[in-house]
Amino acid sequence: MNSILSDRINNMEESATLAMAKTARELKSQGIDIIGLSLGEPDFKTPKHIQEAAKEAIDEGKYFSYPPVAGYQDLREAIAKKLREQNQITQAKAENIVVSTGAKHSIANVFMCLINEGDEVVIFSPYWVSYSEIIKLAGGVPVLIEGNLENNFKATAAQLKAAITDKTKAVIYSSPCNPSGSVFSKQELEAIAEVVKSKEDLIVIADEIYELINFTGQHASIASFPGMFERTITVNGFSKGYAMTGWRVGYICAPLPIAKACEKIQGQFTSGGTGIAQRAALAGLTGDQKPSEEMAAAYLKRRDLVLQLLREIPGIKTHVPEGAFYFFPDVSAFFGKSAGDFKIQTADDFCLYLLNEAHVSLVTGAAFGAPDSVRLSYAASEDELKEALKRVKTALEKVK
Ligand code: PMP
Ligand code: GLU
Repeated sequence: MNSILSDRINNMEESATLAMAKTARELKSQGIDIIGLSLGEPDFKTPKHIQEAAKEAIDEGKYFSYPPVAGYQDLREAIAKKLREQNQITQAKAENIVVSTGAKHSIANVFMCLINEGDEVVIFSPYWVSYSEIIKLAGGVPVLIEGNLENNFKATAAQLKAAITDKTKAVIYSSPCNPSGSVFSKQELEAIAEVVKSKEDLIVIADEIYELINFTGQHASIASFPGMFERTITVNGFSKGYAMTGWRVGYICAPLPIAKACEKIQGQFTSGGTGIAQRAALAGLTGDQKPSEEMAAAYLKRRDLVLQLLREIPGIKTHVPEGAFYFFPDVSAFFGKSAGDFKIQTADDFCLYLLNEAHVSLVTGAAFGAPDSVRLSYAASEDELKEALKRVKTALEKVK
């Protein structure tokens, strides 16, 4: 059967985050009491005023036809204003903004528009699973620079410099980071910006989708640094900070030729994003920010809870994440050990063991470029987190 499919799809890995979420959902539907900590998805409902704005948009009856490909003008203007005022990206204008069907779609547009066969893209690793597959789909070659537990999983500007070749076209990172929860400081980003500026035409893609879930209180946008606007594609969206994963609204802010290219490809692939969802996103951006702040405060409380519980489990090593809603502990101390007949050799085995034994779903770090780690999403209630960590502890006590 695979022979009728293209090499393009046969060579692509399935999204590990979505695959694990699907497995957990299937087990749950069989009546197994799974606690899902695999999917990076807020457990909060979309704030009420955003829901209301969508209902009003339906009642107005004005948003049922094809929206402009790059997004409604008032939404693009509101995004540009936010980027100027909150992110100090002073050159941002509506014409630089392209609204898409989620930030994943934005990233796919970007790589399809930037990459020629054989172009290299440097990825700060550990990294979000879809970057490498989208780059490969576009004909590019992912080049990983790796952070580790000791440096909070943050690869450095020096590593970036060493990884750049004649073929390097772009660099991508997320901050706050999925999967590590680490946040680049302004100084770290300034050093990265200097390296990017040292190579002609090198572009940096700054994935800032977790911007609003940042416990350091300091979010830095690399596009705001001197000389960086023309070299930066800022990616952001509404899924995380506004608990709007299912509405599917993301965007880029890019130099004009890149924004126009993304509009062109989107015009052939999908057209403009869903009209009603764009109206809801506009309400999110321009309305009361308190619900987002409250969600961030709840994540911080959960982070502290999970940190304390993880520290009580012998063999688990973790840093303290500063944003997003993930822990990315090193579990390599369990490799080579067994529970009954089941031998744990890898992080994949570790996740499988916990799924079967503790009924807790995590995602293997291998999918994020870090095979000694696993990712735990703490976008779940405190009760669920306490129960999950209790089960994990009990299951791991059986591993000898
Ligand atoms: N970037 C990162 C780092 C993510 O974790 C996600 C997860 N959804 C996305 C982009 C895509 O977000 P969405 O398509 O829901 O806007
Ligand atoms: N970004 C989230 C995650 O990493 C959602 C799933 C996905 O799109 O990968 O789990």
